[in-house]
Amino acid sequence: MNVATILKSKGSDVAKLGPDVSLQDAARLLTEKRIGAVVIMEGDRLVGILSERDIVKAVSQQGAVALTTPLREVMTSRVVTCGLNDSVDEIMDSMTAGRFRHLPVVENERLIGIISIGDVVKHRMAETVMETEALKLYIASGA
Ligand code: AMP
Repeated sequence: MNVATILKSKGSDVAKLGPDVSLQDAARLLTEKRIGAVVIMEGDRLVGILSERDIVKAVSQQGAVALTTPLREVMTSRVVTCGLNDSVDEIMDSMTAGRFRHLPVVENERLIGIISIGDVVKHRMAETVMETEALKLYIASGA
């Protein structure tokens, strides 16, 4: 199973905002869409990612004034991405090593989706259930 398989079932929708949008507007978007991260785009260029962690950090450091801060000042600019052919094991390694739960999917320098740790867990569980059922059938067949 790879990134392409996951995107096939979840779709290619990605929540995006511009770098001049305020932290409060980003928090509103995350709440409305019930997601944990938003990708920051400048035109077609991926320039950052902002997750709920960044919001908590900014508010804890600056207080309520943080909510008016533009995203370019609080986002993570060095974004790790994955490609359609990356395996689930590879993206799990990447998330573990980088200690983050979101990976934008980029192909030919174009943003085409985003994978969250929730998507990975969901597909891993489905895969495990399928393997278990296949093993049960094999054992029951007495082959
Ligand atoms: P998360 O676990 O995704 O909520 O993110 C934890 C921290 O890692 C936050 O500071 C995010 O801005 C950052 N982050 C999230 N995803 C990525 C990514 N793909 N590449 C680099 N940093 C990221």
